[in-house]
Amino acid sequence: MLHIGCHLSSSKGFLKMGETALSIGADTFQFFTRNPRGSKAKAIDPEDAAALMRLMDEHDFPCILAHAPYTLNPCSKDPHVREFAQMTMTDDLVRMEATPGQMYNFHPGSHTGQGMSEGIRQIAELLNSLLKESQTTTVLLETMAGKGTEVGGSFAELAMILDRVELADHMGVCLDTCHIWDGGYDIINDLDGVLDRFDRTIGLHRLKAIHLNDSKNPCGSHKDRHEKIGQGQIGLAAFEAIVRHPALKDLPFFLETPNELPGYAEEIRLLRSLAE
Ligand code: FE
Ligand code: FE
Ligand code: ZN
Repeated sequence: MLHIGCHLSSSKGFLKMGETALSIGADTFQFFTRNPRGSKAKAIDPEDAAALMRLMDEHDFPCILAHAPYTLNPCSKDPHVREFAQMTMTDDLVRMEATPGQMYNFHPGSHTGQGMSEGIRQIAELLNSLLKESQTTTVLLETMAGKGTEVGGSFAELAMILDRVELADHMGVCLDTCHIWDGGYDIINDLDGVLDRFDRTIGLHRLKAIHLNDSKNPCGSHKDRHEKIGQGQIGLAAFEAIVRHPALKDLPFFLETPNELPGYAEEIRLLRSLAE
């Protein structure tokens, strides 16, 4: 069975997110660890976290996915901005252990003029300061659209980060369909070729999650504007091929499309029917 969910608001806690997921036909979900702008996080209620873990167990949820605030920049030219990213992510990874064995995704960042190789070096340095042998959380790098000075717009850039991480066993990659399409990977006409390139640079064993988003813009546009499934430039046939692909079909899929809950419920129904 397809494992699929969407991005949910975390304002009412863990159990509420699990219940909301069930109510829209999802069996997983994504949430921000704190306000997406990166402000202070609410204290975690261990009983609420445990209640979600029980719900996930009863309803056969695969991993859930936490998302770091998207305003963090681990490879900014400004050392204070880098330090803020390190502090926030360190705190997030401590908090993640309240829900053991899940995944934590972040945007590699923008090098803001320092150059790609310096950006890559700083991201790896941050990860080496962050990762602990004892953690149960898998940290994911997200594939990016390559907007501006963004790092991670190509599989090779993510591979160069991973190559420098000492505890790489605690790392994986989250592939965002809108981002890689905008980054120039033609998943309409050559999905097999794109996955083959992923395998040869990063390794498919590192692929842990998929962000399912259509795109408002053409392949290679480097824009990053999400669209509803089947209503953008990627189109429904490509999503059918993605959710049925032998290398992808057992991964957890997360929608980040411009929808409220009824729209997400509809997309989940649609994608489940395409996957059958
Ligand atoms: Fe993201
Ligand atoms: Fe994404
Ligand atoms: Zn995006």
